[in-house]
Amino acid sequence: MTTQELWKKYEEQRFKISAYDLLLSTTYYDADTIAPVKGRDYRNERMAYISGELFDIETDPEFIKLREELYRRDDLTFTQKQILKWELKDLESFRYIPKDVFVEYSELTMKANVVWKQAKNADDYKMFEPYLLKIIDMNKEMLKYRPGELKGYDVYLSDYEPGMTIEKYDRFFDLIREKLVPLIKKVSAASKIDTAFAYQFYPADVQRKMMYKILDYMKFDLESGLMGETEHPFTNSLSKHDNRITTHYYENSLLSSIFSVVHEAGHATYNYQVSDELAETYVFDNMSSGMHESQSRLMENYLARNSAFWDNLYPQMQELFPEQLKDISQQQFINAANAAECSLIRTDADELTYPLHILIRYEIEKGIFDGSIDVNDLENIWNNKYEEYLGIRPQKASEGILQDVHWSGGSFGYFPTYALGSGYAAQFVHAMRKDLDIEKCMHDNEFIKIKEWLKEHIHKYGGLYLPEEQIRIATGEDFDPNYYIEYLTEKYTKLYNL
Ligand code: ZN
Repeated sequence: MTTQELWKKYEEQRFKISAYDLLLSTTYYDADTIAPVKGRDYRNERMAYISGELFDIETDPEFIKLREELYRRDDLTFTQKQILKWELKDLESFRYIPKDVFVEYSELTMKANVVWKQAKNADDYKMFEPYLLKIIDMNKEMLKYRPGELKGYDVYLSDYEPGMTIEKYDRFFDLIREKLVPLIKKVSAASKIDTAFAYQFYPADVQRKMMYKILDYMKFDLESGLMGETEHPFTNSLSKHDNRITTHYYENSLLSSIFSVVHEAGHATYNYQVSDELAETYVFDNMSSGMHESQSRLMENYLARNSAFWDNLYPQMQELFPEQLKDISQQQFINAANAAECSLIRTDADELTYPLHILIRYEIEKGIFDGSIDVNDLENIWNNKYEEYLGIRPQKASEGILQDVHWSGGSFGYFPTYALGSGYAAQFVHAMRKDLDIEKCMHDNEFIKIKEWLKEHIHKYGGLYLPEEQIRIATGEDFDPNYYIEYLTEKYTKLYNL
């Protein structure tokens, strides 16, 4: 068979997979936003069935053979070769796991997720502990089904961020520990920024109007996307022209929904701006977690927490909330949006203290896999680290070790990408400033120019490159976390007059 014929067969199979994917993603989105609670079991059983079908198609030995044969052909284009490379790499993460182990693990994490929720509500870590210990055991056990040079925690780090290892993450987090911990101490000792106005009553239906003004300002294409509502905001890109973001309205907080909408719009824009050539291929949405997070954080922190973003929007927001904001200047609003304070909950943390929450999780995960941490003492270890790095100690498990869902699903290696994404974003913004006057673009209502820069240098490639390659393409340099540290140091030194 010629390479072209083989590629055609491959594409037919991928079309089939994409149809199942669309079905599942739409159902997930529906389940998380509008579907009635009582239909959950019926839905879940059918979704599990479809997921199984999809698993069978993807791991069909014939289809694996087809891809491997194609990958060996030397008359593939560069793009075709890259697409297959990533697809085969991702397949490695599960293809050698025996089906019974895979099923046991899926059942364990599904059960663990239910127990985690109950334990969190009951504030009782002991309820969840046996499940977590079993998940840790199985994760260690399943490493033996992973061929390749990487060992231990490196395997899982690389699943979420290809190319990243403990050695590289250590360098990143050492810098965070060394530079940010003292900076945070200084900020904590400085006089507080007044944020009280942001926690008055802000009716959800008026907030909703404001979110559409923000999306409009960001030139978010509502014919290729939509905004729904959920408990925990997320983005689901079903295809290049179907990007769904969600938010949650808290009527006692002005800031929460604003920055989560911008964050999710950042994720959605990444997929929306993938080139047409790649939009229906595997690399449409296989970007690394760190790369994806870099694009959401870039919009949320580097753009929307910059005063120029609000030159057009703030007067409109004052009109919508005349009572609440009549005496609050744009500068006061921006200061409140950037205020930093040590807190216990990762998802509520500000831009400055956020990476410390991740550092803590990274150190614990690393210790779990290299055996330097006693897994029977995890809650205590967690609390001690919060005290050490943030100066506060959780009093309840729900505000401590039980706050995040990730470990109940066995997602080890995911957390570090959250901090890494912010680190990448600083370097991208630094590069962008060489070509664009970012503040002027935002002031002049030309957000589109910023999006075009992102498209040209990052988005259009989808997941075609390794994160480290993508960074070199966009910035001309290797990843350098000093941009991130310098940005935070400069910003917070100024904000708090340190
Ligand atoms: Zn995100």
